[in-house]
Amino acid sequence: MYRITIRFYEELNDFLPRGKRKRDVDVAFPGRRSVKDLIESLGVPHGEVDLVLVNGASVDFSRIVADGDRISVYPVFESLDILPVTRLRTAPLRDTRFVLDVHLRKLARRLRLLGFDVDYRENRGDAELAEISTRERRILLTRDRRLLMRRIVERGVFVRATRIDAQVADVLDRLDLRGSISPFTRCIECNGRMRSLPIDSPECSPALDAVPPGVRAWCREFHRCDGCGRVYWKGSHYDRLRRVVEALDVPPAGERSADRFKK
Ligand SMILES: [Zn+2]
Repeated sequence: MYRITIRFYEELNDFLPRGKRKRDVDVAFPGRRSVKDLIESLGVPHGEVDLVLVNGASVDFSRIVADGDRISVYPVFESLDILPVTRLRTAPLRDTRFVLDVHLRKLARRLRLLGFDVDYRENRGDAELAEISTRERRILLTRDRRLLMRRIVERGVFVRATRIDAQVADVLDRLDLRGSISPFTRCIECNGRMRSLPIDSPECSPALDAVPPGVRAWCREFHRCDGCGRVYWKGSHYDRLRRVVEALDVPPAGERSADRFKK
């Protein structure tokens, strides 16, 4: 039997049963086991982990645990000064592009509303989601812990909340993204970029065919999605979305871009 002591820090404790949270836990197991396998056997997805110290030295996930080891496990965004040690990734998780699990449709649309690059499609399997996350270096957001435990997933965040407003706040706060919000710059439907569509431009007239005549009569400011061609304007839907953005208390730069937008 191997006997080790392990401690998880900050939000990684959410994955543990109450009696094992925020304290040293003694674990005994037979046979050789890697750090990754040990951590996940305790219910914590490795995608949430950014730093592992064994007896005070940083190690990677493949390190084989030795009898008597003391292991400390830190989450991705723990604000420790860990620069002198080896992080488990070659680059920090600051590239805020996402791929979302099929169950998070509302969250996908909300993050696009806030200007984030979100790859979302219905009917994707776990293997495909994991593969996209790794290949395109997108942060995988999911409420499926087992999906985050797939070996190839490097960047993953377990969305703890179930209500949409709480999910958005959870993602923004845990990834420290409130300063990166750029509302109404991205198409909610397809993730394309929004472009201004000047009313006197040659491309405007055909594009407005899809706009109700009642709106064309009063609206002088339109935007179009680069991806799907959808035209946006500041209709009643816009006011509701603007309130959603304002409720997030975003910084001034984000509010300025909100003023530019339509629909
Ligand atoms: Zn679009």
